[in-house]
Amino acid sequence: MKKVYLDNNATTPLDPEVLEAMMPFLKEDFGNPSSVHQFGRTIRVKVEEAREKVAEILGADPLEIVFTSCGSESNNMALKGIYKKNCNHIITSQIEHPCIIETCQFLETHGYEVTYVSVDKYGTVNPQEIEESIKENTLLITIMHGNNEIGTIQPIKEIGEIAKRHGVYFHTDAVQSVGKVPTKVDDLGVNLLSLAGHKLHGPKGIGAIYIRKKTRMHPLISGGHQERKRRAGTENVPGIIGFGKACEIAQREMENELKRLTSIRESLFKGIMEKIPHVQLNGHPTNRLPTTLNMSFKYVEGESLLINLDLKGVAVSTGSACSSGSLEPSHVLLAMKIPPEIIHGSLRFSLGRFNKEEDIDYVLEVLPPIVEKMREMSPLWEEKKTVMGK
Ligand SMILES: *Cc1c(COP(=O)(O)O)cnc(C)c1O
Repeated sequence: MKKVYLDNNATTPLDPEVLEAMMPFLKEDFGNPSSVHQFGRTIRVKVEEAREKVAEILGADPLEIVFTSCGSESNNMALKGIYKKNCNHIITSQIEHPCIIETCQFLETHGYEVTYVSVDKYGTVNPQEIEESIKENTLLITIMHGNNEIGTIQPIKEIGEIAKRHGVYFHTDAVQSVGKVPTKVDDLGVNLLSLAGHKLHGPKGIGAIYIRKKTRMHPLISGGHQERKRRAGTENVPGIIGFGKACEIAQREMENELKRLTSIRESLFKGIMEKIPHVQLNGHPTNRLPTTLNMSFKYVEGESLLINLDLKGVAVSTGSACSSGSLEPSHVLLAMKIPPEIIHGSLRFSLGRFNKEEDIDYVLEVLPPIVEKMREMSPLWEEKKTVMGK
């Protein structure tokens, strides 16, 4: 059976070039980069080279990059690690990844105050609402760059200017956007930015946080002197090497991939619109990650579409991977004021470097009959047909 992986926002397949770069560090090059002897010293050089590659995709100084274990850790560090005297108010949005929202909720139980700004029907925050939420004690604004469920890209540059004007720290969760669209920290105007290896065809278990010079941070993990005391623990060397390679490749391929993925994503969108009635796009029509297409199929359950597509070898997702398994409607789609019954019919198709146009052809072949079959079985569809007088 054909296998088509369209769940790249959950995680991406490892690029073979990345695996090749990592192999020596899983085998003979095992030294601890903190060791003074040559086993350690040779590894230290390689780790620092990888740091340069991660810094490059962000237009940052390598000294501003701290390796972590994942995107969630980077986001936790941004929120729990930042401090400024007498400031304990955080501004975020209603559509952040759960690792931001739940960290905010945790901080609220520890005396912090959090404002969750709203989004419009495309899932875009309003910079003006953010500016109006700033108070005397505002410590940090954290707004994600590209949303993982709908792909909508937030006006980070504008928010960055506001944050700067008010002397407030600004963090962006760019886990989903790094390597897919430009993410230079000076263009975005951020003090802090999170990224993760496995979302850009690198390995799992490695992430990073960009910390702009002079930003004061507590470490999340105290102990050794690793990462200039900002994150203790022996480095995940194979992960770091793979992450560096993944950033190098993503940087090299970005311009072409942006065009190519946008084009095949649009083929999928147009094909669905042509072949299947009663569907809608969720997310911004154009200002969106090239990898992401979220659509609602009315009168069917996204869950059963997912299972039936899986039986045909096609992997997609309903809402966020982190919230699937529960039938809670996606908090992102809810914040966009999409009615719950339409949210329940939503599917997320997310593309990556290894998807080809023929993957889309296959989905367009198998999906329409599945939707039709599901609708035939749906009481909602029966009602709809009666109302339409069919
Ligand atoms: C995947 C993801 C995360 C979490 O990253 P992990 O590496 O899985 O911890 C955070 N934010 C966004 C936007 C993501 O897509």
